Amino acid sequence: MSTTSNALYETLKQGLKDIDARGLRRRRKTTDSACSAHMTVDGRAIIGFASNDYLGLAAHEGIRAAMAEGASKYGAGSGGSHLLGGHSRAHAQLEDDLAAFSGGFVDNPRALYFSTGYMANLAVLTALAGRGTLVFSDSLNHASLIDGVRLSRAQTQIYPHADMAALDAMLDASRDENATKLIVTDTVFSMDGDTAPLARLVELAEKYGAWLVVDDAHGFGVLGPQGRGALADAALRSPHLVYVGTLGKAAGVSGAFVCADKTVVEWLIQRARPYIFTTASPPAVAHAVSASVRIIASDEGDARRAHLASLIETTRAMLRRTRWMPVDSHTAVQPLVIGANDETLAIAAALDEHGLWVPAIRPPTVPAGTSRLRISLSAAHSEDDLAKLDHALNTL
Ligand SMILES: *Cc1c(COP(=O)(O)O)cnc(C)c1O
Repeated sequence: MSTTSNALYETLKQGLKDIDARGLRRRRKTTDSACSAHMTVDGRAIIGFASNDYLGLAAHEGIRAAMAEGASKYGAGSGGSHLLGGHSRAHAQLEDDLAAFSGGFVDNPRALYFSTGYMANLAVLTALAGRGTLVFSDSLNHASLIDGVRLSRAQTQIYPHADMAALDAMLDASRDENATKLIVTDTVFSMDGDTAPLARLVELAEKYGAWLVVDDAHGFGVLGPQGRGALADAALRSPHLVYVGTLGKAAGVSGAFVCADKTVVEWLIQRARPYIFTTASPPAVAHAVSASVRIIASDEGDARRAHLASLIETTRAMLRRTRWMPVDSHTAVQPLVIGANDETLAIAAALDEHGLWVPAIRPPTVPAGTSRLRISLSAAHSEDDLAKLDHALNTL
């Protein structure tokens, strides 16, 4: 190796040591079974509170069967990008299903399916924002929105988390009639579980002629009538809304979609590089998501959401009885803020001894000093699973 390549190697080694010293080393657990409440992880039976499988659909028999049917009908891989041969009937059908299901906020909705939510966010931001655009972004937005804004090269202002007075002032101060303005927010914040003031955000967008991009990764399938998502939940309508939903969380499969006015979606097909320059995901995945959306919209979906709501209430009461600080969350994401990295890791390790998998979330995912346990609830959990967690938290 030359001296310069050695220098990089030494930098990495030192960097990893540093990560260890600060209690920031991330370790992966390996699951040996389907994602569910009761699963086998690294060879041991555990109760999982780590997944985003909020409705317990990842292991659903009907969705598994749809995945198998899709593979048998369309094969294993799509064979190409969406614009060059990889766009299957299963993708097209799913897009129609999603536009009909979640597009009620706009007159002429159209949906576009992506392989991941990360890519969907990069696509929306790089295709709709550019150098001249003013972007207003919540301080706790997901990394994929932050990266999308960076990649777009737009001029960005970060407003304090959910602070509508601050956002109003920022928009007011940048009253440039010619600049496109984009407000960007998570609907449910992924590490806190709290929700964005969507009605107020739409009002501000209308007041200042801005567009509003909402990332409903944790709301799609869970919030609103039939699980149609956060915009339906708040009964909001505006032609200037762009909705991003993900399909690997409550929908239990994989992928994401953007739903917006048909002109916006056509623009994404023409211009969004994370859409154009990648292989379309396997058609079987899209076929399975269509099955998942039917279940989400059904009475079974309602029953799963009702059960989840009752688990959320039980958990809120349980966390208030601990000596740590729960976040005021009414969603399936129920964080318990511990503070220091090493203490958070120690508590997660103690819970692991009890056969409970609750991940420790540390910087840079959350701000320094706010390391936390992120208890993630699923309709696959029972009240008995929560009783075990309650017992373990009380014996620490
Ligand atoms: C998970 C998540 C994403 C990314 O979605 P993937 O499909 O996992 O790539 C985007 N935004 C938020 C808020 C998320 O929580």
